Amino acid sequence: MIDIVEAMKVYRRGRTEVRALAGVTLAVPKGQFLSVMGPSGSGKSTLLNLLGALDVPNSGSLKIDGRELSRMKDDELSAFRRERLGFVFQFFNLMPTLTALENVMLPGLLAGRAQAELRRRAEVLLETVGLGGRTHHRPDELSGGEMQRVAVARALLGEPAVLLADEPTGNLDSRTGTEVLRMLREATRERGLTVVMVTHDPKAAAVGDRIVRLADGRIVGDERLQEQAA
Ligand code: ADP
Ligand code: MG
Repeated sequence: MIDIVEAMKVYRRGRTEVRALAGVTLAVPKGQFLSVMGPSGSGKSTLLNLLGALDVPNSGSLKIDGRELSRMKDDELSAFRRERLGFVFQFFNLMPTLTALENVMLPGLLAGRAQAELRRRAEVLLETVGLGGRTHHRPDELSGGEMQRVAVARALLGEPAVLLADEPTGNLDSRTGTEVLRMLREATRERGLTVVMVTHDPKAAAVGDRIVRLADGRIVGDERLQEQAA
């Protein structure tokens, strides 16, 4: 599903160069839940940004679904991002003035999809993430865990093939964090979703099928975890 070969990313700040990624090669099969760990500054977010086509590598190749991200034109890329990718961030990024339901529907509305069908799907997704009774709440009327579940429902609305999550439990207590992780876990089982999740929490990482460790922009560990009971 994901095929990265020798991806390199260098940031220049004046005269200083930072090798955020120093040649990363990584294949992630469809349906795998990959946890990416590593110290602060090791390149985790850079890797996710490249996968999300939010940034471009200096060299190397990144393919999702066999498609080379750097070969796509801007409009192809935004369609690809909309149709194939889902994003979940540490700070939820919900619109404060919209209800939970509207937040989940928003990407579909922006993509011009029919409102009635979007509403139906958004309601089902909110039900799935245990927020059936919160559809008309605004973010400030929800707990952190609930907000993150809204964000996960929103990410799943477009039925993505790949979900990219950067510290999705970073702002949650361990119990609500576990709930969010269980939802992501289920989505990989039920939808064949491929997940790449960055985390510095070993317990969160252990929910995945595999843990890749980064240090100084390189992969320094790649560990397959046992199949675990749901
Ligand atoms: P992590 O997510 O693992 O903490 P990042 O991928 O955010 O690490 O950053 C890797 C390295 O690249 C860090 O040294 C960081 O300071 C640097 N870096 C990241 N983004 C930029 C940027 N936009 N400009 C300059 N340097 C950056
Ligand atoms: Mg980061």
